[in-house]
Amino acid sequence: MEVPFLSFSHMNQQIKAESIKAFETFFDNQWYVLGKEVENFEKKYASFNETQFCAGLSNGLDALYIALKSLNIGPGDEVIVPSNTYIATLIAVSNVGAMPVLVEPNIKTYNIDPANIQAKITSKTKAIMPVHLYGQSCEMDEIMAIAKKNNLFVIEDNAQAHGADYNGKLTGSFGNINATSFYPGKNLGALGDAGAITTNDEKLLETARMIRNYGSKKKYYNEIIGYNMRLDECQAAFLSIKLNYLKEWNVNRKAIAAAYNDGLKNIGDVVLPYTADNASHVYHLYVIRTKKRNELQEHLNKNGIGTLIHYPVPPHLQKAYAHLNIKKGELPIAEEISETCLSIPLFPGLIPEQQQKVIDSIRSFYQ
Ligand SMILES: *Cc1c(COP(=O)(O)O)cnc(C)c1O
Repeated sequence: MEVPFLSFSHMNQQIKAESIKAFETFFDNQWYVLGKEVENFEKKYASFNETQFCAGLSNGLDALYIALKSLNIGPGDEVIVPSNTYIATLIAVSNVGAMPVLVEPNIKTYNIDPANIQAKITSKTKAIMPVHLYGQSCEMDEIMAIAKKNNLFVIEDNAQAHGADYNGKLTGSFGNINATSFYPGKNLGALGDAGAITTNDEKLLETARMIRNYGSKKKYYNEIIGYNMRLDECQAAFLSIKLNYLKEWNVNRKAIAAAYNDGLKNIGDVVLPYTADNASHVYHLYVIRTKKRNELQEHLNKNGIGTLIHYPVPPHLQKAYAHLNIKKGELPIAEEISETCLSIPLFPGLIPEQQQKVIDSIRSFYQ
């Protein structure tokens, strides 16, 4: 029995009939760009995320970019990001011309450590971008307090945590303007590229909508030099259907995680996921850590079990960020995570027999 790292089969079976019907409606309507489907999804997603507004966008990277642009962040500005995030967070900052400033995470939660933020704030700092990594909410009360005290904007990168909350408040609803991705493998994923921003600020919403559509509010009248970063009508139709299942799928993810937490207790040096007080985790990924990471990955691979590493090279050691001049050893927590982390199979529809095989295979490796 093979255990893939990720399979869409279960989710796709649930949405297949509705999605084909939605495609037929979309096809017959002959309206392809910024129409009823995008509008409908924006309303639904804003309501789900308990924010006033949402703007559908082309992908998560563009959403992060537009969030920064809407706040007028650019050359000469610094933006605080975690040192162990997916590269998109940094790329968005670089692409608006600002400077990413890396802050080390908490080694237990893997999220940016609020205790490390203040020391990195300078007169150039404009915003903090917390990333709810692997599906766990950052410690948002602490982060919002630091932002308020220092007069900084907050932009959440909520690509991995649709449905997570901190003290009952949903991720993606804390910041001034927040970005998310609906890349297929995310908890809420389109059947292709898609993303969005969420906000309670109508002015920021308006700016974001202009930027995504050539800097235009009225067709052929351009107020600023914008982009084409629009959410596709067809993807919006699929996302509206999939959003109806997100809560159920997150419940399934949490149940699988709980079974891993139980089945993988007390094995060698294996470190299991840890959730901070007041934070919730929607397990976009189930990430374990071990000094024997590479050997364990090879062992699981030989047993037909798919795994991935999120992420093998921290941003400051990427060639693309050599200009930051941060040497190996300077961000030891991000480096430690990259050298020891391993993501094991977790997706809605993973069956108990498959999960037991993963647990048994990990146990046998340490015996
Ligand atoms: C997936 C992801 C993104 C980027 O999303 P795309 O839609 O692939 O551009 C940004 N940040 C994080 C943390 C992600 O996981």
